[in-house]
Amino acid sequence: MKKKLTDMDVKDKTVLVRVDYNVPLLDDKILDDTKILSSLDTINYLLDHNCKIILLSHMGKIKSEEDKKRYTLAPVALKLKELLKCDIHFEKNNMDPLLPAKIKTLLPKDIVLLENTRFLDIPNKLESNNDPQLASYFASLADIFVMDAFSSAHRAHASTVGITKFLPSCMGLSVERELTAINEFLIHPKRPFTIIMGGAKIEDKLALIETMLPKCDHLLLGGGLANSFLKALNFSIGASLATKNDATIAKLQTILLNNREKIMLPLDAVVGSTYDKNYTQYKRIDKIDENEIIYDIGVKTLEKYKIAIQESNTIFLNGTMGVYENYRYSNGTKELLNMLKEADKTVIIGGGDSVSSVNYFGFKDCFTYLSCGGGATLEYLVKNHLVGIDSIMEDESIEVLDV
Ligand code: ADP
Ligand code: MG
Repeated sequence: MKKKLTDMDVKDKTVLVRVDYNVPLLDDKILDDTKILSSLDTINYLLDHNCKIILLSHMGKIKSEEDKKRYTLAPVALKLKELLKCDIHFEKNNMDPLLPAKIKTLLPKDIVLLENTRFLDIPNKLESNNDPQLASYFASLADIFVMDAFSSAHRAHASTVGITKFLPSCMGLSVERELTAINEFLIHPKRPFTIIMGGAKIEDKLALIETMLPKCDHLLLGGGLANSFLKALNFSIGASLATKNDATIAKLQTILLNNREKIMLPLDAVVGSTYDKNYTQYKRIDKIDENEIIYDIGVKTLEKYKIAIQESNTIFLNGTMGVYENYRYSNGTKELLNMLKEADKTVIIGGGDSVSSVNYFGFKDCFTYLSCGGGATLEYLVKNHLVGIDSIMEDESIEVLDV
């Protein structure tokens, strides 16, 4: 059993919390605050226990000084201030020699948000390569470490796995919530169990398809994933997004051969074209022209998928049915979500864009569980464990490293 926050004596302690504030931004505006909201339970629990709180998170990938301007956590500090109705001390320089002394002067219930941990990836990838000196430095700032970033738990970084070597550590409340939901609904689903998969990340989702197919009764496909399966069946898909990898195509053919009765593919599509960005046509799936691009599933597909949904007990959705960000191609994603809402089944939605699409179309409170996990959820479903959770030690034997 991994240590839970409620197992720890946190009263009056300085607590370092790894959260995931890797939120979508547009000109400093936070487009979706789901991840911030999901961290509030742990923060409020620590405030109730009179703790001093230090929050750590990454945002984006940092490869240049330009990236630093784009991926600062400053807008998150403002959002937290608004949500928690208290001051947030935003620390711009995580390696400021004065920081340890500043932390010592904090008062109970003070909250510090450190700048993007991946800023420390320049020049030597200290964060992403799980540098022990960096992990030890972070650990030196606090008494206890709480891992509350489920969506970063599949990555062994200094701020996720590294710190656990140096501090008594536990899972935060949102990590506990994610694990409970995934175990209850997806590792042991009530059948009939339908999986709906779409989106753009094709190779990333192959292992999940292979793991989940034996457990599910129907696999309904959309997005670039469906295009890749259609390509594997020798349909002409024009200039649509699909895998270009021959080994993947061969794998999809084997999957189709062994599971033809479970797998459902689009019958029709809404397409754009390579030469006119305003071109929008409704097409049968076997009538796609060379210059056309499949951007969404069509109404006949939705009707077919509705039958599978209605006879299911549990439904897991990962990946959108189309380019939902563009109003011309948003209908499939929106109507499918509406269908899931109306069906009133156990519905779990996982994946960054999938959860964003739920919020975007106003379906926030309509489903059983929204998982913020993204890649971590998929990896947990495939492997049944995550490096960032495994590293939470049951005893409190910790290392001391001179920094
Ligand atoms: P998630 O983040 O939920 O795991 P993905 O990142 O795999 O999902 O996929 C979501 C993205 O897939 C969205 O940005 C959407 O625009 C894109 N997408 C969906 N269908 C298509 C398509 N037919 N062609 C190109 N992109 C697509
Ligand atoms: Mg995504």
